[in-house]
Amino acid sequence: MASGAMKDPQNLKPEDLRPRSTEIFERGKKTLVGGVNSPVRAFRAVGGTPLVIDHAKGARLYDVDGREYIDFVCSWGALILGHAHPDIVAAVSDQASRGTSFGMTSPLEVELGEKITKAIPSVEMVRFVNSGTEAAMSAVRLARGFTKRDLVVKFEGCYHGHSDGFLSEAGSGLATLGISASPGVPDAFAALTLNIPYNDLEAVENVFKKHPGQIAAVTVEPVAANMGVVPPAPGFLEGLRAITKKEKSLLIFDEVITGFRMAYGGAQSVYKIDPDLTVMGKIIGGGLPVAAYGGKREIMQHIAPLGPIYQAGTLSGNPLAMRAGLATLPKLEAPGFYVEVNRKTQRLAEGLRSALKESKIRGEVNVAGSLLTIFFADGPIRNYADAKKSDPAIFAMFFHNMLSRGIFIAPSQYEALFISAAHTDADIDRAITAARESLASMRNN
Ligand code: PMP
Repeated sequence: MASGAMKDPQNLKPEDLRPRSTEIFERGKKTLVGGVNSPVRAFRAVGGTPLVIDHAKGARLYDVDGREYIDFVCSWGALILGHAHPDIVAAVSDQASRGTSFGMTSPLEVELGEKITKAIPSVEMVRFVNSGTEAAMSAVRLARGFTKRDLVVKFEGCYHGHSDGFLSEAGSGLATLGISASPGVPDAFAALTLNIPYNDLEAVENVFKKHPGQIAAVTVEPVAANMGVVPPAPGFLEGLRAITKKEKSLLIFDEVITGFRMAYGGAQSVYKIDPDLTVMGKIIGGGLPVAAYGGKREIMQHIAPLGPIYQAGTLSGNPLAMRAGLATLPKLEAPGFYVEVNRKTQRLAEGLRSALKESKIRGEVNVAGSLLTIFFADGPIRNYADAKKSDPAIFAMFFHNMLSRGIFIAPSQYEALFISAAHTDADIDRAITAARESLASMRNN
């Protein structure tokens, strides 16, 4: 950790602390919308100049001003091994010299497909795509085509990418910006998505009563991580499985965050649920743009070319990305991998809870596996309405206090912190110390 990050006086402005970042961000704003290519990167919810990164290694990000941060965002969860893992770098470098895109099938796709179907038994067949958005959107098209029904149920605060039908009460970046639905989504599309509260089985029963025989699928993040981390209440996922089965509707698990993170077999292996379709992304691509959807053979075979439901992609199954995924997954199979990363997460959670207690600032720490959120609200936080009780001003203050101490957490109350195998106990303890100092200084201000 660069000692400079710790010594900076707290009252300096970002442009004094990070002049080159400020200059590049200002220049970028002329051509990139908001200076970014994804909204949450713009720090709108917390204010200040966003990070402009030069390079990254292990659990560390280095900005263009040479400042060092312990990274608890890890490319929004994609990097469970940390940045620039040597084996992934070697695999991608080797592949680059063998060709970066073939426009035809390679053995690498078959191999990664086999690894995924082996890891997640409900996924009997898989289709690779390039983003979680594309995977979730395609899974819904498949569910509609397969069931010949149009409606989709989603849960308030769950995010399934930015395809039209999913952009309502979608947590994540929309929650950060206070947007409940996006202009540009025709009402007719939005009307096909039914939003109900997370962890509320009665609401699920009611929505099926209200729309009998019309609901193609229920889509859920089995552990919600886009309203901050909200674990499923006991029986919630089991209830979803039972109701969807009874109603002949498909159950779609969006495991873009939880897949290969909650466990090698995803959240579905932890909670022992057998969904019809699973949406994946992030970790399966080892930090390159890969996502996938998969599920039961009898459903998946309705996709082109086996069936009439169309979905395609120029760069799908991209060999560079497949190599990164293939270099990543075997590392996660090592005995004790998840025990260790979860242990570090618990260590962080306990440290944050005691720091909150000492500070007397009200807050609640939710944890699931290696996902964690510190909510500045009274607990328990069980759904989006609870999460929205958090105080955004306190979060923003906490965020900047942590950043000035060299700790980078997501610049939004409604996101998870991600712990990777590259974080050491010393990194976790630094984060706890920074949190203790941050909360103390906030209390005194
Ligand atoms: N589903 C979930 C659960 C996600 O968390 C995300 C993104 N964080 C997506 C879908 C969309 O993925 P992408 O950003 O790759 O389009």
